[in-house]
Amino acid sequence: MRVVLLGAPGSGKGTQACLLATALGVPAISTGEMLRQAVLAGNDLGRRVEGVMAAGQLVDDGLMAEVVRERLAQADASSGFVLDGYPRTLAQSATLDRILAQGQAALDHVVMLEVEEQLLVARARGRGRSDDREDVVRARLTVYAEKTRPLVDHYAARGALVRVDGNRTIPEVTRAIVAALGLEAA
Ligand code: AMP
Repeated sequence: MRVVLLGAPGSGKGTQACLLATALGVPAISTGEMLRQAVLAGNDLGRRVEGVMAAGQLVDDGLMAEVVRERLAQADASSGFVLDGYPRTLAQSATLDRILAQGQAALDHVVMLEVEEQLLVARARGRGRSDDREDVVRARLTVYAEKTRPLVDHYAARGALVRVDGNRTIPEVTRAIVAALGLEAA
């Protein structure tokens, strides 16, 4: 099963991606986590993305396409994945479709985690990451509203979108996602 999780920073995407991936027996693929690892490793990719990430802005679509293409080509992703943090722009969603089509595959579901703004800010602030400073959290929310939010309508128009209320506890949200995907009753 190939699933994309959409949601604002602080919506619980990362947590739910891991839980859902475990339930499905597929890898959770977080582009944010991959980039943070690259920054920690101090490699070429890390040096290229560090400043952009620290400012809460988006890494260039072309560079992200390379990162995702390479990751999805790995054996563990061949039978499915839960993508967390990609796509984040309409151009990235077109790239993802192309990458999957090359392997005769397509997305099965796109899950939108809907969380109220107040809760998003509180959650994003509480994580203690370097991009969790108040001004950077605000920048990330603005970037989300401008660049990523349009993906919700895009996938809804395709009939691929499932909306889940994310203003609840972690296990409640996991159960709601699992039920929405028709995997088992909530
Ligand atoms: P995340 O952990 O998903 O919130 O990602 C952390 C940061 O990594 C983002 O604020 C971006 O700077 C960068 N990033 C992660 N995924 C993407 C993506 N798909 N496109 C552009 N930038 C990304």
